Amino acid sequence: MKKLLLFSFLILAYHASFSQAEITEHEIKDHILFLASEKNAGRYPGTKANRAVVKYIVKDFKKQGLLPFAKNYKQKFKARLRVEKGQPEKPLAKTCNVVAYQEGNDPILKNEYIILGAHYDHLGMGGPSSKSDKKNTIHYGADDNASGTATLLEIAEKVAVNKSQLKRSIIFIAFGAEEQGLLGSQYFVDNPLVPLSQIKLMINMDMVGRLNTDNHVYMNGAGTFPGGVEFMQNLGESLSLTPIVHAGSVGGSDHVSFFKKDISVLGVHTGAHPEYHRPEDTADLINVPGQKQVSDYIYKALMTFASTDYKMGFIPQD
Ligand SMILES: [Zn+2]
Repeated sequence: MKKLLLFSFLILAYHASFSQAEITEHEIKDHILFLASEKNAGRYPGTKANRAVVKYIVKDFKKQGLLPFAKNYKQKFKARLRVEKGQPEKPLAKTCNVVAYQEGNDPILKNEYIILGAHYDHLGMGGPSSKSDKKNTIHYGADDNASGTATLLEIAEKVAVNKSQLKRSIIFIAFGAEEQGLLGSQYFVDNPLVPLSQIKLMINMDMVGRLNTDNHVYMNGAGTFPGGVEFMQNLGESLSLTPIVHAGSVGGSDHVSFFKKDISVLGVHTGAHPEYHRPEDTADLINVPGQKQVSDYIYKALMTFASTDYKMGFIPQD
């Protein structure tokens, strides 16, 4: 009996570890439910809720065996918070980016980095960037950007399991204070943890949870690296997605901070919706199977760039 129990336990343990290696709908959903919970109150920089979310991301990176650049994976900075016109300035908020990396195995290419990023902060109780008339209401930010953060954690987990395939190194960044004006990514490019010249591509995910029935995935900046437009188009189609690939239009999220430093970028999202920057952007509206599809797509793209000698190089855009 004891033996049988032990055996069942091993089988269970095997399945548990196996499911962890894959990007699963279940895990995506769990991450979003946590990040966009009532308790985390819209993940506003400088708040206790924001710190709880940082702790959650740090714990996850650590669990995957990813390496930190600094103590506790935190790149701390102070954020100037947006205020309504005519309102007095708020004190600077202490917040951070959460940064981890996985080293590549090729003796030369491991000195080249690909960054995968997503901002984890949101609007808290509203404020000047809210589009809602409701004052002092939690802006859950499930799509913006609990979704991107969840995909970041899921891809990081799968990369860690498959690290032996990597030639280039990958840096994972959960950015703080994006909603206050791309502050986390701006801080990173001004205080980079590796030389900017060694960063070959930055892939950013901001709002990837609302794949529509036509499976439209939007991509900005794909023309900033060789063959980017064709590659993203073909890969998406092979995964039953309908990519809308823009070569030059760069968009308005954290990847723009990198683009401005002449780094190739790819900004991925699943499109705008009526709940954007409103309290109604909630977890129940996330298309979880769709987000898994998008996550697999980004994982495959990332692994192609990191585990082959795919030619990289910045191509300026007008
Ligand atoms: Zn966002």
